[in-house]
Amino acid sequence: MKLPIYLDHHATTPCDPAVVEAMLPYFGERFGNPSSRSHAFGWEAEDAAERAREDVARLIGCRSKEIVFTSGATESNNLAIHGTLAAYRSKGRHMISCVTEHKAVLDPAAAFEKAGGEVTYLGVDRLGRIVLDELKQAIRPGTVLVTLMTANNEVGTIHPLAEIGSITREAGVLFHTDAAQAAGMLPIDVEAMKIDLLSLSAHKMYGPKGVGALYVRRRNPRVRLVPISQGGGHERGRRSGTLNVPGIVGLGRAASLAAKNMAAGGEKIAALRNRLEEQIRGGIESVVRNGDPDHSLPNNLNMSFPWVDGESLLMAMEDVAVSPASACSSGAHEASYVLLALGIDDDLARSSIRFGLGRYTTEEEIDYAAAKVIAAVERLRAFSPMFEREAGRETA
Ligand SMILES: *Cc1c(COP(=O)(O)O)cnc(C)c1O
Repeated sequence: MKLPIYLDHHATTPCDPAVVEAMLPYFGERFGNPSSRSHAFGWEAEDAAERAREDVARLIGCRSKEIVFTSGATESNNLAIHGTLAAYRSKGRHMISCVTEHKAVLDPAAAFEKAGGEVTYLGVDRLGRIVLDELKQAIRPGTVLVTLMTANNEVGTIHPLAEIGSITREAGVLFHTDAAQAAGMLPIDVEAMKIDLLSLSAHKMYGPKGVGALYVRRRNPRVRLVPISQGGGHERGRRSGTLNVPGIVGLGRAASLAAKNMAAGGEKIAALRNRLEEQIRGGIESVVRNGDPDHSLPNNLNMSFPWVDGESLLMAMEDVAVSPASACSSGAHEASYVLLALGIDDDLARSSIRFGLGRYTTEEEIDYAAAKVIAAVERLRAFSPMFEREAGRETA
């Protein structure tokens, strides 16, 4: 077993070796620009990008013309949100989202509010679930867009996409989902789920960083989009700029690998996740799992360790790379806004750790990580006056 152990796959994943292999020629002899229509170098690059487009489309059940390549899920979210709100401005200036979304949705939403738009943020329950009736009630005549993530990047909770899609389709509003964590991990079918726009990112699914895609529905309804950057009119005018051919080839390969491994890989990773949870519960009293155990990403385990400071716990678990529950906020000592939104109190939120398992995680690594967590929590609790007092009271 090689140390340190990487259990932070919600932050990023390593490239699958087959992905790297597929990409390499496109840095070298196949360096052409897909926009070069006059020679074989360009045709070869274009063919490669189009094959990748088909692989990505197949992963989510759309047609390849509906895929726009971007620099990642952040850009895809921005294009989906700003692009539709600008295109449908005459319909209204209202969108609906949720308090547990990634910053790559919340920040464009805040920018839209600053520019005079209105956003309704749905709340969530203790498991991170929205209430579908609240979504129905929030939709009004000026509502253009509902954006709700497929699965949460901190607690793993999966939103009921098909139910949300039925509500939005019936109401005649667009439905965008940020599937950065879910694409390649969970089955997604944009037809069955009535999704109109979907963001995904290569580096969350064993592809390279800096490349992703936005699915934009072309039929029933045809989604209009105002581009956020102008240039050579690439990607049918929706996203100008020379295509990142090696990255796109890597994304395509990552998508086809993910599709092939999804069922077996999901089962294997869920079994390892459950093993980690059971071992931790077996070794430490009073631990809390966050998220919805029945509707969760199979690779996610978010746990709180009362009377322990999460930052100290991270430090104490040398050799095990995990995230505090507040991975994406710059102030490392702030409690995670996602956990707070679940109604978890500040102290408990600060005692939380997010484990993200991956395709190459082994039983041996899980056992090692569990032993490290248990030892670290025991050590830190031994120094905690709060633990002495409160845990003592529990057993008295
Ligand atoms: C990682 C992530 C993003 C950002 O994706 P990039 O490709 O890194 O820009 C957006 N949303 C969610 C849910 C994510 O997990």
